[in-house]
Amino acid sequence: MKNIALADEHSSFERPHFDVEAVRRQFPVLARRVHGRPLAYLDNGASAQRPEAVIDAVDDYERHHHANVHRGVHTLSQEATALYEGARDRLVQFINARSRHEVIFVRGTTEAINLVAQSYARPILKAGDEILITYLEHHANIVPWQLVCEQTGATLVVAPMDSRGEVHLDAVESLMSSRTRLFACAHVSNALGTVLPVRRLMAAARARGIVSLIDGAQAVPHMSVDMQDLDCDFYAFSGHKMFGPTGIGALYGREALLERMPPWQGGGDMILAVSFAGTTYNTLPYKFEAGTPNISGAIGLGAAVEFLAGLNRVAAHAHESALLDHATRALSGIPKLRIVGTAGDKASLISFVVAGVHPHDLGTILDGDGIAIRTGHHCAMPVMEFFDLAATARASFAFYNTFEEVDRLAAAIERARKIFT
Ligand code: PLP
Repeated sequence: MKNIALADEHSSFERPHFDVEAVRRQFPVLARRVHGRPLAYLDNGASAQRPEAVIDAVDDYERHHHANVHRGVHTLSQEATALYEGARDRLVQFINARSRHEVIFVRGTTEAINLVAQSYARPILKAGDEILITYLEHHANIVPWQLVCEQTGATLVVAPMDSRGEVHLDAVESLMSSRTRLFACAHVSNALGTVLPVRRLMAAARARGIVSLIDGAQAVPHMSVDMQDLDCDFYAFSGHKMFGPTGIGALYGREALLERMPPWQGGGDMILAVSFAGTTYNTLPYKFEAGTPNISGAIGLGAAVEFLAGLNRVAAHAHESALLDHATRALSGIPKLRIVGTAGDKASLISFVVAGVHPHDLGTILDGDGIAIRTGHHCAMPVMEFFDLAATARASFAFYNTFEEVDRLAAAIERARKIFT
């Protein structure tokens, strides 16, 4: 442990200043205790905590402004509409979309990908066509494509990963052909932490005229994403992983494609006129937002975006990288522990197994120490199968985590190992 502390002192010398304690004070839940111990929340990959700014924005809306959006002439409805649409404008800026027509509020990444599968892919797919994904995808970026392949007779093709959990450009390119109608991949793997070379992958798809989708659920919390720079056609992400509320997320879509796509769901708000002779659909983005939306969720997400935009994200990212390095060194020193996913470029997430200790037992013992990690297949069963594992333990760090929490994690794993082996 002493060596690790020295190594971190050295690396912090080169890191931009990041005041973790000041950031932590903005997240009320981080002050609580679990089983009598200070909470060490290391399950951010599953869902991140909310800062006061998000809690307050939702609270203010609920207390003072709630009404349905878009259809009311009365004051509250106009206020709610302004807050909801203001949140969209923040998102547009945050991801550098070209226009507010390109940002659709959805329930989260899962719904965004299903929308693209059903509204973009289903109408154009036929037998013989292919959808290309990669081996390390979350089930949310596998099953919607399996469904649409079943519905249309198209084939799902899976690009390989190597034993470090890396996906290589040439391996993906070799599977792109005139049959490939869409390429979908994660920006960051939730099970392994791998950051995929998405810019190069998107360029490869674009060069072949293949429409592309990025599952950004695990990327947006850790790095700035720029739609114009990435040059993808669709990008999906979830509010609750980026310090916003649950039940809200967004789909970015290139306007020209969204224009051509039929609505996914029908109902109120997505129409301009309805008669029994036929219906005229609303303009973008409303064409894809049928029914009363998650208004408070969108407002909370807007506040999360504002919070993130106000952070020094370069410094936050450097802090997270230092946490990952620290955790990698500390866990590597534990006998019988194997890190699963050793890609050269990783987000601040570490999956591991300890021989002789079931991940669920480990998770339960750590919880007794106030340390929250995730155990299981992480909705990435093919990844588990690849590594011949039923489950892993996973610690996923946010910028509010500390080196001390990582040390507590390592010490608690070591204690658990000694109990079981
Ligand atoms: N994609 C990835 C990479 C994820 O990590 C997750 C959630 O864990 C999802 C998609 C699904 O996100 P949601 O459940 O918010 O729709």
